[in-house]
Amino acid sequence: MVVVGLTGGIGSGKTTILNYFKSLGVPIYLADDEAKALMNRSKVIKRKLVALFGEEAYKDDKLNRPYLASKIFNDKALLDKMNAIVHPKVASHFKRWLQKQSSTYVIKEAAIIFENNLQSQYHYIITVIADEDLRIKRVMKRDNTSKEKIKSIINNQLSDKEKAEKSDFVIVNNDLLVAKNQADKVHNEILQKIKHK
Ligand code: ATP
Repeated sequence: MVVVGLTGGIGSGKTTILNYFKSLGVPIYLADDEAKALMNRSKVIKRKLVALFGEEAYKDDKLNRPYLASKIFNDKALLDKMNAIVHPKVASHFKRWLQKQSSTYVIKEAAIIFENNLQSQYHYIITVIADEDLRIKRVMKRDNTSKEKIKSIINNQLSDKEKAEKSDFVIVNNDLLVAKNQADKVHNEILQKIKHK
């Protein structure tokens, strides 16, 4: 099974484009959503996160996301420790999910691919990019957050230019219709590449 990675910075429109691929019949896997679900569901993860962050990691038996976010923001060592607990579980969940798929290819959305050198996990990588001012406006509207907060997240991520250079395909999501046309082209190119492999 061919696994395509889809990545992009905050507010670039990863989820939006991913849903478009889904409408084309491509099975999609949302690694971040699965990670969050597993953090709530898995007793092993819960025990390890409480050991790492303290009892406050969970509130009313639900993951206390704002608390965790405040702890790991700007603390790479702690983020790495959390990822070491969660990522192996997501990886095995993905493996089981993949075995159930029967399509030509699947897409796995992952906010971080190049940052952690995970390119080898994918046959092809698509990066969604968009102008920074648009990304900021979209996230401000969606999450009701400040411009400064979003800018600091953008500055913490690898730049669009660097990600685009390392990718097999780039979708520019400034205008949605244009982006969907590009996604159609990428979809057909991937199918062609797989056919001629
Ligand atoms: P994050 O990294 O924060 O999860 P994302 O890259 O997955 O974000 P989306 O959630 O798809 O981005 O998009 C961010 C917001 O911008 C959403 O509210 C979405 O509806 C909107 N949006 C996405 N693409 C466009 C577009 N081309 N034109 C206008 N709005 C858009």
